[in-house]
Amino acid sequence: MREQTCIIIGGGYAGLNAAHAMSSSMKGMKDSSLHIFLIDQQAHHLRKVLLFKPAATDSAITVPWSDVLPSRVTFIQGSVTSIGANKQVLYKGRDGQLHRISYDFLIVALGSTIRKPAEEQGGIALTHEHAALQIQQQWRSNMQKAAGKQDQLERKRLMSVAVVGAGISGIETSAELAYAMRMEAIELGLAASDVRVSLINAQERLFTEGPLKVAAKLEAALNELGVAVIHHSRASHVRDGKLHFVGREPLPVGVCIWTLGLQPNPVLRTLGLPVTDDGKVIVDASYRVPGFPGVYSIGDCAHIVDPKNGSPDRMTCKEAIPQANRLAKIIAADIAHRPAPLHQSYMELFCIGLGPERGLVWCRQWGIDFVLTGKLGWKIRKFTWDSASLIK
Ligand SMILES: Cc1cc2nc3c(=O)[nH]c(=O)nc-3n(C[C@H](O)[C@H](O)[C@H](O)COP(=O)(O)OP(=O)(O)OC[C@H]3O[C@@H](n4cnc5c(N)ncnc54)[C@H](O)[C@@H]3O)c2cc1C
Repeated sequence: MREQTCIIIGGGYAGLNAAHAMSSSMKGMKDSSLHIFLIDQQAHHLRKVLLFKPAATDSAITVPWSDVLPSRVTFIQGSVTSIGANKQVLYKGRDGQLHRISYDFLIVALGSTIRKPAEEQGGIALTHEHAALQIQQQWRSNMQKAAGKQDQLERKRLMSVAVVGAGISGIETSAELAYAMRMEAIELGLAASDVRVSLINAQERLFTEGPLKVAAKLEAALNELGVAVIHHSRASHVRDGKLHFVGREPLPVGVCIWTLGLQPNPVLRTLGLPVTDDGKVIVDASYRVPGFPGVYSIGDCAHIVDPKNGSPDRMTCKEAIPQANRLAKIIAADIAHRPAPLHQSYMELFCIGLGPERGLVWCRQWGIDFVLTGKLGWKIRKFTWDSASLIK
């Protein structure tokens, strides 16, 4: 029996699902034994899509590796620094020392990081769990202060939040906050109608990924929750309790949150693999990295293009997960020297949470738009959150 090693670097949605798919696909292989390792810098799997939750309420969004990894996968906590010569990965371990580990197959799934504004722009960028907790502490402390304020304008400022960046993350963050802040206002004897959550959108409309009618539905649902969407506005910085814009009047705010979207993990540029101008790993239609035998890349960190229509995948977990499942079949085919499957774009599908127990799902199939809202939309949304992290 031939012993081989597969190393997965990055245990986000792409890496975690690849670990499961590789582990299952190896069960069917009789003449080879594959040892699978997953290396991640974090001590747990972070459910990144739920980052907005702890900004609003106390919520656990990390899961121990032992709960989510298959038993045949060995976890190593470490920060990968480069891909060395002779098929080796270099990583800094928990002991602070540089370690090397050899691979036959390497899956690069180092994902993305969340964009931050410059420090002088002020506010808090929703980039990590600790930033989310800081946001929650700040708005709750402001609400407490508001309860003792006579000055109506200052009270309303303290009861307000601006979310800058109206992608899916900004929409979900503002909806969740509007609900939590209203509940807190009632609790403190304040008028819930004085809570103001403004969602600042640089575009003319929400949800440019889908049809206008779905964008209108989303905006109506946000308005119902007390979120005001301010379109076509570019926020520049926060100073002295005001959010400043390019070419419009400042807005008094208690807390400013930036949700500016994703960028490929900067470490990708230092690994020694070929990258695109925007820093994603270059792969072929079967996720192989050209010039690096045995190296594959998937998820937010890879530049993956549908060979049929030339359309690139976006940075979403709904695209990363089918890539991970396909990759296990690709590696099995490569081991057996068979033709490997090719990448195919995933269907157009978006699930958006709109506060506790409400959501919206849009998908387009056969040229028809399907939209689900309310509790059913939320149930599907919750199912997608849980299944992405393989939580049953
Ligand atoms: C707030 C928010 C909401 C979102 N909502 C949705 C949604 O509703 N639907 C959707 O489809 N997508 C959504 N996304 C996008 C989705 O989160 C990403 O597409 C997804 O996380 C990509 O998975 P990934 O495994 O490629 O990368 P990541 O999730 O970024 O995982 C990368 C992993 O690599 C690890 N890592 C990084 N650097 C190193 C290193 N040097 N060494 C070792 N380990 C390292 C990280 O710790 C992490 O575990 C959302 C994103 C955010 C931020």
